[in-house]
Amino acid sequence: MSKLKSIFLISFSLVVSQLVFAKEGMWLPFLLQQLNEGEMQSMGMKLSADDIYSVNHSSLKDAVLIFGGGCTGEVISDQGLVLTNHHCGYGQIQSHSSLDHDYLTNGFWAMSQNEELPNPGLKVTFVIRMEDVTKQVTEGIPSDIGEKERAEYIANKSKLITEEAVAETHYDAEVRPFYHGNQFILIVTETYKDIRMVGAPPSSIGKFGFDTDNWVWPRHTGDFSMFRIYAGKDNKPADYSPENVPFTPRHHFPVSLKGYQEDDFTMVFGFPGRTEEYLPSVAVEYVLNESNPAKIAMRDQSLAIINKWMKSDPLINIQYASKQSRISNAWKKWIGQSKGLKENDALEVKRALEADFQNKVDNNADWKQKYGSILADYKSVYDEAAAYMLSREMFIEYYYYGPEIFRFASKFDVLMDKDQSDEDLTRNIENLRKATEAHFKNYQEAVDRELFEQLSTLYLGQLDQIMHPRELTLFLTRKDPVRALYDKTLFASKEAVLDFLDDFKRKDVKDIEKDWAYIIQKDITNNYNEIVRPRLSEYGNQLDLLNRTYMQALMEVMPDYKNYYPDANFSLRVTYGKVKSYQPKNAVTYLPYTTTSGIIEKMDTTSYEYDVPEKLVDLIETNDYGVYADADGTMHVCFIATNHTTGGNSGSPAINANGELIGLNFDRTWESTMSDIMYDPNICRNIMVDIRYVLFIIDKYAGAKHLVDEMTLISEQQ
Ligand code: ASP
Repeated sequence: MSKLKSIFLISFSLVVSQLVFAKEGMWLPFLLQQLNEGEMQSMGMKLSADDIYSVNHSSLKDAVLIFGGGCTGEVISDQGLVLTNHHCGYGQIQSHSSLDHDYLTNGFWAMSQNEELPNPGLKVTFVIRMEDVTKQVTEGIPSDIGEKERAEYIANKSKLITEEAVAETHYDAEVRPFYHGNQFILIVTETYKDIRMVGAPPSSIGKFGFDTDNWVWPRHTGDFSMFRIYAGKDNKPADYSPENVPFTPRHHFPVSLKGYQEDDFTMVFGFPGRTEEYLPSVAVEYVLNESNPAKIAMRDQSLAIINKWMKSDPLINIQYASKQSRISNAWKKWIGQSKGLKENDALEVKRALEADFQNKVDNNADWKQKYGSILADYKSVYDEAAAYMLSREMFIEYYYYGPEIFRFASKFDVLMDKDQSDEDLTRNIENLRKATEAHFKNYQEAVDRELFEQLSTLYLGQLDQIMHPRELTLFLTRKDPVRALYDKTLFASKEAVLDFLDDFKRKDVKDIEKDWAYIIQKDITNNYNEIVRPRLSEYGNQLDLLNRTYMQALMEVMPDYKNYYPDANFSLRVTYGKVKSYQPKNAVTYLPYTTTSGIIEKMDTTSYEYDVPEKLVDLIETNDYGVYADADGTMHVCFIATNHTTGGNSGSPAINANGELIGLNFDRTWESTMSDIMYDPNICRNIMVDIRYVLFIIDKYAGAKHLVDEMTLISEQQ
């Protein structure tokens, strides 16, 4: 490792700007002019880079936003109307649902702005500007400094830069690393906090095909929901208030009714979450042989339990809908990802690249000195770190996606501080009351018992002996651990917890301290924090240095291997491609769009996954598509293109050559689930719902034409 530390940083932007391009990649909008504009225009785009991103005048970027914690959305009217995926608004739709108002099953439509529903905690964020600050951030970093000190140095510099960037504004700012810490970018943002739910189709449209169709083409899902941004009277962000008014955006997307043809240019503008395109083969081996199989095994179990209970009872179906989706979405992706990586020989491809790389490096004295040991260093770090990495992933699977009793019990930590003032204590008790109500709204003890029973031994079975949480391990040796836990704990019953809080005296903390749910949660988290985390942070520092150096080395040693773009990190990116069919296997071609006939083909009234609402069947059978039909008279539902997307791009606008909205990105095909690690332009496709289907559902199905009337529609004549 010592050799690596002496590496000097080459001028990074120089290398980036000398590249030639293809379609893979997620590009920074403020560098499009320099890097991509020519290629985009040669592929058919009629816009300039300045139309897409500008700080001097309104541009497409002003209509693109982060929706909630991990999705993208876009503004589609001059009154702040926002479109995102059904699966992105799912948590909000679910939280407004009850057996009386089951918006998950029946959909929801605000027929006037008065009926739009507030969503405490939901935010949307716009990017105001982005700027390369690599020079300011890295200038003066001593070359012999350790990774930890380097990170501190960068954090201090970043703090000064962000403070200056937002001085006297209501904006936020951060400096983010790109290309694994070879480039730093300042991102200034504006966040709105009063976001109201406007509409959502029933799940039988918004989630049509459910788990079976998720990550699969051909697809017929109307995966959209609508919200509206409200602002103070000055159009600036404001906390929720009935006095707030619809936000006036700097730009909203015009909506095209013109459709598309195969090979038409498309672009997706949004916030891709995470990709790992430059992983070394040892890391891919870890994913394939350890991480994915272990995570899939845990989720196989939890889904079997949750699905069974959801089917058995309509209330549980609502309560667990959001959790089930969160668990199953990644579970299915990992299965597809492993399959795709194996079938496409990802390991062999990576190993061949590394052999070539090593060969070139060994034949050049300078490179040999700087990069000669990188691959061997990776191997030794992974050999040691893999068990700890797996332990972390299993901790996340068990603690955050497994039985919920432990996380709930952990909230009671706030009562443990014996010296807290009476005021603090009263406030903490009040907050716990609210947390208790929220927790039990979506909780069934019977489901949790089964999750504990099935997942606990599986969890321990994946861990090295030395990383086993002690109390949990011992507890599981009891005769009937499920009863021993759930029959005795305070934390399985809402009434018991609320009574406890009503009569709480300081001495009652003893009852919590001897409650097994509380003891085990402490055991699991302490075990992680004391045994796993410190080691992971050491390995993390080593890997940070290796990743940064390997990224730089690849670009220097193998400039023609790839069009190097920064891995996704949930920052604003542009990806572009063409509407395109593909061949998933020998003798099979997938056409680039689906129509409503496919909905009728898939319809199955005995399965909730393919149950089609009667009204939709009527509209389809009478071809009642109005102005939303394609020129050929059919109603397109979804389409695919070669845009390189990932999670986080959910809800992103799909844009045509003129900058008009033609669809809403929501998924990738089965063959693309590997694309976060290895993107292959021949078979990887993103899936979008056709905007005309969205409008058809809003207008003809839901009778909410007033929403379509708000939009700027572009039809054939224009
Ligand atoms: N369906 C994905 C998601 O859940 C989108 C993608 O990964 O392509 O975020």
